Amino acid sequence: MIGIYLHIPFCKSKCSYCDFYSVASQSLVQTAVTAMLREVERRKNYFAPAKSFFFGARQATLYIGGGTPSLLPPDTLNTLIQKAIETFCAVPPLEFTVELNPDDVTTEYLHRLRDMGVNRISIGIQSFFGDDLQRLNRRHTAQQAVSSVLMAQKAGFENISVDLMYGLPGMDAKRWRSNLEAALSLGVQHLSAYALTIEKRTPFGVLQRKNKLLLPPEDELVMQHDLLCEVSAKSGFVHYEISNFALNGFFSKHNAAYWQQQPYIGIGPSAHSYNGRQRQSNVASNAQYIKNMEEEGDFFEVENLSQVERYNEYVFTGLRTIWGISLSYLQQIFDKELINYLLNNAKKHIDSKNIVVDGDRLTIPENRWFVADSIIVDLIWA
Ligand code: SF4
Repeated sequence: MIGIYLHIPFCKSKCSYCDFYSVASQSLVQTAVTAMLREVERRKNYFAPAKSFFFGARQATLYIGGGTPSLLPPDTLNTLIQKAIETFCAVPPLEFTVELNPDDVTTEYLHRLRDMGVNRISIGIQSFFGDDLQRLNRRHTAQQAVSSVLMAQKAGFENISVDLMYGLPGMDAKRWRSNLEAALSLGVQHLSAYALTIEKRTPFGVLQRKNKLLLPPEDELVMQHDLLCEVSAKSGFVHYEISNFALNGFFSKHNAAYWQQQPYIGIGPSAHSYNGRQRQSNVASNAQYIKNMEEEGDFFEVENLSQVERYNEYVFTGLRTIWGISLSYLQQIFDKELINYLLNNAKKHIDSKNIVVDGDRLTIPENRWFVADSIIVDLIWA
């Protein structure tokens, strides 16, 4: 499996918590898309060397994220998509996701997406309460959140994911339960639920530095996390990664491939690529990216991953999923010293049931996922 990610680096406005690279001005949309088309062309052989390493696998997932992909006019989006598909995919993508903001969703737009081959949509709802949405500086209303899902279902989408956030300023367990029940009652197949994290460079980061952001205390956060597990399980959702829940058959193939170290390419400003040995990070500036494309200059930084870095990444991402990490895979790829380090440091966590051994696999059970980072840190080679 290979992953293809297109990053659309524009938003109508910036949300208070968001640290993703995107700009609120849309003046460069067309030139940025032209530059992205150039990037696809310049990197058309990206997967060629990986083909033998990854057993020639060419089945692909395609994910259009951002930023706000739904800001692009459908024809512009379609040009970019078709170029990416014809360049990187031998067969139509197995899973093809587009992120949508609720206020951009129209029936016509959804039908255009279906015509382009999109078979999964991810809607950034975050909350069904108007005051939460205002604090987050989201542009949509609670009503638009609901109608975007209903419209997508009516347009024939059968694989819909929604994003929600908990631990929001002023949020209590009652409100969080209500958000969860609202999302699940809409009949979606996938839920991504993130605890709010405060990034320094965001408006919330500024408010926090001034002591003006009232966040729920730690025990409230634990309660909201437990509620998330309980309510989603009652609706038949499997908690398959720390922040991701889905009905059987609807786990995100694109993200699962990331977590299982499959190769991917990221096109667009700030996008990242990974080929098993190396990570490439595109410049996080629209103007610089466009200039570099026009002048055929370098547009990404390369990080050659050492064995230790690859080990750390595998352990860190794998243990945040229900699949955990595979000892036989580790033995195939990494030196004995790293395997012994892992086994020695895992021992106390196995004894205390923070880690479960099941045949070849080590996993962290769901009831310890809330503290997963503190477990994983012991297994990371520092
Ligand atoms: S719409 Fe999405 S990418 Fe844009 S600012 Fe808000 S959270 Fe960030």
